Amino acid sequence: MRDHREISLWRDVPSELWQDWRWQMRNRLRTCDELSQVINLTPSEIAGIKQARGTFAVGVTPYYALLMDPDDAQCPVRLQAVPVEQEANRGTYDLIDPLHEDADSPAPFLTHRYPDRVLLLVTEMCATYCRHCTRRRLVGAKEGCITKDALEQALDYIRATPAVRDVLLSGGDPLSLSDSRLDYILTRLREIPHIEVIRIGTRMPVTNPFRITPELCETLRKHHPVWINTHFNHPVELTPEAVAACGRLADAGVPLGNQTVLLRGVNDCGNIQKSLVRALIKARVRPYYLYQCDLSEGLERFRTPLSKGIEIIEHLRGHVSGFAVPTFVVDAPGGGGKIPVSPNYVLSQSPSKTVLRNYEGRIVSYPEPEWGDTHDPKTCRYCQEAAPQQGVAGLLTRGSPLIEPEMYHRVSDRPEVMLTDNIQQPVCHNGCPKERKQ
Ligand SMILES: *Cc1c(COP(=O)(O)O)cnc(C)c1O
Repeated sequence: MRDHREISLWRDVPSELWQDWRWQMRNRLRTCDELSQVINLTPSEIAGIKQARGTFAVGVTPYYALLMDPDDAQCPVRLQAVPVEQEANRGTYDLIDPLHEDADSPAPFLTHRYPDRVLLLVTEMCATYCRHCTRRRLVGAKEGCITKDALEQALDYIRATPAVRDVLLSGGDPLSLSDSRLDYILTRLREIPHIEVIRIGTRMPVTNPFRITPELCETLRKHHPVWINTHFNHPVELTPEAVAACGRLADAGVPLGNQTVLLRGVNDCGNIQKSLVRALIKARVRPYYLYQCDLSEGLERFRTPLSKGIEIIEHLRGHVSGFAVPTFVVDAPGGGGKIPVSPNYVLSQSPSKTVLRNYEGRIVSYPEPEWGDTHDPKTCRYCQEAAPQQGVAGLLTRGSPLIEPEMYHRVSDRPEVMLTDNIQQPVCHNGCPKERKQ
């Protein structure tokens, strides 16, 4: 990494100031003039920066900008932070809100998709605006944070919904809030007795590692269990500063995960991913998810075939420590949530044998126990106390034979469709019987 004093813009910046996270936030590079002091901009980047004005903010911390190769426009850091001309292109399948976060929202800035956890967007601000941001519809425009009123509405919903045990703070970057604001939000969440876990999604360890101050660590420590997921995409991002920031969080007792986005030209390579996960576990960060790129507007150039993710997992599973292998997921368009996609290891099955293959391609047979499954839900206390299982787990445990698409329901509403008594009552995804009109 270059020394910041080599750049004339920062020649007189003392190290203490360079390492001040607020200085990094205040001095983000936003214009062609500013960025061209650090890298040699291409015509496509110049067009991209000009056209990004008014659509999706440009902003790069001086720290992250110094990781860029000044002469290589294909530099993985540069591709993530500097817009190019194609960012204005709209792909055939691009969507404004691909994950239906707004549609599945019971209160402003709150998304409740899974049974026991919610996503709360607490700010629109980031240290660096990722060109592959899935939430570009919200992020960066005003750099505002959640209003007191909106926060109260979200807290009201969470308080009134005891099924929620896990609140995931995201944005924008929640760590762009001050320690005191963050402390306030965490305190208010901790007042709710059924909240067991609080999670924060942040890219600060990557783009502004100086944000992870001892004071921030003290603030987080007061509200444990607090988990953090960060967002490293390429091994060059694991600088000594970034590794030290992760170390401070880990020392404060925060379990660290990493969510990588699979990006064409940045990290669409099994060997890059292998060095990334190795560097992560050395930094005490466990690879959590590898995301297929979403269908947000302007991201088409970053998309890879789904099979690329499977190929990457094939390069990792068995080849690196098991806890270094992330789960490859597709966040399904339309609010389908995260769907894991993996190589197939089960080759065949009979009631007595399962045929498996390992990462080396060895094919083995596992003999099933002759007594099969002897677990009895009727005598298991946990089964007795559990609410009816939702989703496919419900198909495996309850008597219901199917989960039907909404369309089916509508067809059966038609008066000419007669239902016979031996057709089981269909259930919707959360297990309640569907009402049928007579
Ligand atoms: C990703 C996500 C979560 C958290 O999912 P996990 O699989 O538990 O990490 C929760 N809510 C929404 C809306 C999400 O997109």
